Amino acid sequence: SIPDWRLGGLLAHPKYKRVLVKLSGEALMGDQGFGISPDMIKYVADEIRSIYDLGIQVAIVVGGGNIFRGIAASSYGMDRTAADHMGMLATVINSVALQDALEKKGIQTRVQSAISMHEVAEPYILRRAVRHLEKGRVVIFAAGTGNPYFTTDTAAALRAIEISADVIIKGTRVNGVYDSDPEKNPRARMYDEM
Ligand code: UDP
Repeated sequence: SIPDWRLGGLLAHPKYKRVLVKLSGEALMGDQGFGISPDMIKYVADEIRSIYDLGIQVAIVVGGGNIFRGIAASSYGMDRTAADHMGMLATVINSVALQDALEKKGIQTRVQSAISMHEVAEPYILRRAVRHLEKGRVVIFAAGTGNPYFTTDTAAALRAIEISADVIIKGTRVNGVYDSDPEKNPRARMYDEM
């Protein structure tokens, strides 16, 4: 099933000129439990388009948990750095898929990767990323921070500060900030309710 969050409604406030959208890898996977759902990525691209059409500059950080999570593999005995490199490559796969989906909606995009791979993506260069945003291109930041032992949430916070984003919006499986994981704890409470 396709969820019903509406980024346009959240961001229709004129104070937001530049936003960073953090999408977990799982936000692209839909009901299929792994990988990228074609319907879901089209839905996400439509949502991005709805805020782009408001004239807001949009940068995106995508996770990789729908494909590979370093910490899970390291718990099965894999070297953590190798596993995290795989996790970061998973974010590049998602970034390229999202780029394709956005370009199908008529939006110009650039992928900038924190791990060099010149044939696939530009390197991350702050000033160049800002220039792309100013020219109305959506910039997708791939490969997280480029360092093992971090997550793409850290990358989202880091890139948001670097590009001077007005706000970070997070697209994830749960609908708010809870005191524990609501998918594991039925009594988890959302901070709004406390
Ligand atoms: N990762 C990393 N460094 C980073 C960002 C990500 O090593 O700066 C690796 C890590 O293995 C992580 C995986 O990439 O498990 C996928 O990212 P994340 O778990 O943040 O994705 P999400 O939960 O948002 O789908």
